[in-house]
Amino acid sequence: MFITDLLKLNKKCNHEHVTPDRDCGYCPECGKFIRNEWYITRCSCCGMKLKSMNKNNAIIPQHHYCTNCGGEEYIVEKLDQINFIDINFAVLVKQVVEDKKTICTTTRCWQERTDVQPKLLVQYL
Ligand SMILES: [Zn+2]
Ligand SMILES: [Zn+2]
Repeated sequence: MFITDLLKLNKKCNHEHVTPDRDCGYCPECGKFIRNEWYITRCSCCGMKLKSMNKNNAIIPQHHYCTNCGGEEYIVEKLDQINFIDINFAVLVKQVVEDKKTICTTTRCWQERTDVQPKLLVQYL
């Protein structure tokens, strides 16, 4: 590995400009394709949603015990869509997507992409 590679690794991009209101997009800072993924944790005993956080790339509950039943075990759930209730519990993970062909199938992404696909507009002319 060259020294330049090491320097790049040290300067980790947080992809701050890929905002959570989009499902995915290119990071203007590093040029990588980023997909926003939301995760929540739930108590595996009673199923209550737990406030979650991202610690060392692991999704974990903010508190050790469930406030509803005192349980310690939890499960991590990936959300297909974020809503205003879950956003209080959820953690946003910005995934770097290497294979661009397999991503961007969601409606919102598709709508964003129609402007680069003029063929789709023909029917309105
Ligand atoms: Zn970035
Ligand atoms: Zn519980």
